[in-house]
Amino acid sequence: MIKLENISFDHCIKCTVCTIYCPVARVTHLFPGPKQSGPDAERLRIKNPGLVDESLKYCTNCKRCEIACPSDVRIADIIQDAKWKYVKKGFFRPRDFFMSRTDLAGSLGTIFSPLANFLFSFFPVKILMDLFLKIPYKRSYPAYERGTFRRKFKKLAARQKTFEKKAVYFHGCYVNYNNHSLGTDLVRVMNAMGVGVELVREKCCGVPLIANGYLEKAKKNALFNISSLSGAAAGKGLKIISTSSSCTYALKHEYSHLLDMDNTGIYNSIEYVTKFIFDRFEEGARPPLRPVSIRAAYHSPCHLERLGGVMYTIDLLKKIPGLDLIILHSECCGISGTYGFKREYYQISQDVGYQLFRRIEEADPEIVITDCETCRMQIEMNTKYRVMHPVSVLAMALGDER
Ligand code: SF4
Ligand code: SF4
Repeated sequence: MIKLENISFDHCIKCTVCTIYCPVARVTHLFPGPKQSGPDAERLRIKNPGLVDESLKYCTNCKRCEIACPSDVRIADIIQDAKWKYVKKGFFRPRDFFMSRTDLAGSLGTIFSPLANFLFSFFPVKILMDLFLKIPYKRSYPAYERGTFRRKFKKLAARQKTFEKKAVYFHGCYVNYNNHSLGTDLVRVMNAMGVGVELVREKCCGVPLIANGYLEKAKKNALFNISSLSGAAAGKGLKIISTSSSCTYALKHEYSHLLDMDNTGIYNSIEYVTKFIFDRFEEGARPPLRPVSIRAAYHSPCHLERLGGVMYTIDLLKKIPGLDLIILHSECCGISGTYGFKREYYQISQDVGYQLFRRIEEADPEIVITDCETCRMQIEMNTKYRVMHPVSVLAMALGDER
């Protein structure tokens, strides 16, 4: 019997707008594009899985096709689902396992951070990783912090209890293992609005697991996170915020769409951080902001665009006095999580991002601002500019106290 989990392909009106907006189809002939790989091919696949085209593996799951589609076809979900059901060749499991276990890698990396950071930037080691793990030697890696953000947060936890209003912070792997200052900046901004921050137990949101096809492990993580966050959302009526646009997208949409998990208990409580801050500012909880006198270029990440959250980030940045903001043309940076860390996709990833890097160079800002940690890695690797999260720019406008 034909099982139709996502029948949105039937709403396709064959306009091909999605293919025009697909950043991968634009740079390589190896991927025919979302219309052909999504709704067109799905009709054939559900009748005969033998008709699967392995070019599906080139899709980055950036969701730009879904943003463009006038018929609300969940094109990227259709492609991801088909990829993991049918495409069997072309995956390199030792590397994919290593890259998708971010909690394991992060726990080890933060214990041995000086050694890990030295090895991951030592050219002979990078060559060996290219040869044996198929991780391109040209790719730079994010450095590990010493210890975790959760440990650092213990020093801040007592003060958080003094606030009447509270929110739960899903910090994600990047803040926990690679960028503690983004987490502490978030706490400063929340406290300045009169909101205390709570942490609950969490595991990797599952984005790298989904991207690498470890769906059972991704489901286990999703179940853990839903159960842990439900206590705060349903039990205490708190909002759940994240500084990662991709973690937010996964918690809100990928859990139900791709993993078939019931996240209805937390769905309405999950908000990307700038939407939460925007709402507090509207309620009158806007702290005094000092001029920052910086010329900044803002890059909007694909998953935040799909969430509909870009306008909140831009509005907040415009409220910072002295910030000379350039809004960059909307386009994909190309890294797409672990995609750009794989030798077979590296050049496609670079080619996708080329236009963005060129536009940043043309704008010649003092800093680049973006909401996504992997966009940050890609832009910092390909341009000379420092990249900051909007929350860190807001924290800077609050003044010293670091
Ligand atoms: S998700 Fe991105 S890469 Fe995949 S088909 Fe859609 S636009 Fe293209
Ligand atoms: S944009 Fe939507 S409706 Fe148009 S071809 Fe693509 S999937 Fe079909």
